Amino acid sequence: MAGLGPREGHRICVCVRKRPLNQQETIMQDLDIITIPSDNVVMVHESKQKLDLTRYLANQTFRFDHAFDDTASNELVYQFTAQPLVESIFRKGMATCFAYGQTGSGKTHTMGGVISGSEQDCSKGIYALVAQDVFLLLKTSAYKKLGLKVYGTFFEIYGGKVYDLLNWKKKLQVLEDGNQQMQVVGLQEQELCCVEDVLSLVEQGNSCRTSGQTSVNAHSSRSHAVFQIILKSEGKLHGKFSLVDLAGNERGADTAKANRKRQLEGAEINKSLLALKECIRALGQNKSHTPFRTSKLTQVLRDSFIGQNSSTCMIATISPGMSSCENTLNTLRYANRVKEL
Ligand code: ADP
Ligand code: MG
Repeated sequence: MAGLGPREGHRICVCVRKRPLNQQETIMQDLDIITIPSDNVVMVHESKQKLDLTRYLANQTFRFDHAFDDTASNELVYQFTAQPLVESIFRKGMATCFAYGQTGSGKTHTMGGVISGSEQDCSKGIYALVAQDVFLLLKTSAYKKLGLKVYGTFFEIYGGKVYDLLNWKKKLQVLEDGNQQMQVVGLQEQELCCVEDVLSLVEQGNSCRTSGQTSVNAHSSRSHAVFQIILKSEGKLHGKFSLVDLAGNERGADTAKANRKRQLEGAEINKSLLALKECIRALGQNKSHTPFRTSKLTQVLRDSFIGQNSSTCMIATISPGMSSCENTLNTLRYANRVKEL
């Protein structure tokens, strides 16, 4: 993968992934307005049939570290995003990978695993792929001697509060400890010995996350899910990989007529995604002030950002359809801002 992951000293990698048109979009004759002409360019074009002089929108082109079309597998996406960061946590690094995009664009498919019918194959998600490589590296001669142990956490941030997905959504406090480290107090850390342990942890967390949900607009799409793989040496933190399935970034029409609860939810999500963007940008520019405190999400992830040896990648997921044009452009603009340093 030489030269294709984040470069040395360039700690942020921003990629875009387009999903295929789904069955419903196909039935509605939604049009595919996204082209990936090369492996790092995304083009958005309104369909010619829809063009009139007042609504003309020129093709828009965006360039990223990598762009994946709708034929890319999770494994391929992984190779260019999270995989190049895995080894850094063995060298006391902190790595973070975000999936960002509108609800239904493929964040959970990418992070958690391929969904077919009502089943999710967790072994094909970035959570599991990271875990797989962690256990491989753990056995290599370079790292075996460190005597590292592997732990996993899985929690959700909703409405500015943290809920443990490995403990019946128990509400937890976030505090700064004596070493100026942010701690989620009482968060369950499960020791992991093999990939199967990781899969059952992810399944446990997922079922907790989605329990009692019925619609697409359900709670899970309105919350950020954070899955972490932690390496410890003699009980002390050695390195950490945080994998974040962010809340859907959509706003607009549906929020206007939404009830008060939805509006507050939307405002909170918006605030946290804005704070995230500002923090990533500040990190890239080595600014002295970084607005971590603005949201629970950035507060919880603060230590992963500020470390000497920290790296971040973002996978912006987009829907291909004309009907998602507005949200897609918003996602691409956001990703573009995160990338621009
Ligand atoms: P999100 O988490 O962003 O709300 P999901 O990951 O749940 O979106 O994806 C919505 C639907 O689209 C799911 O049924 C999922 O299987 C499908 N999907 C998403 N991305 C892809 C992809 N790259 N290839 C095939 N199907 C996908
Ligand atoms: Mg999801």
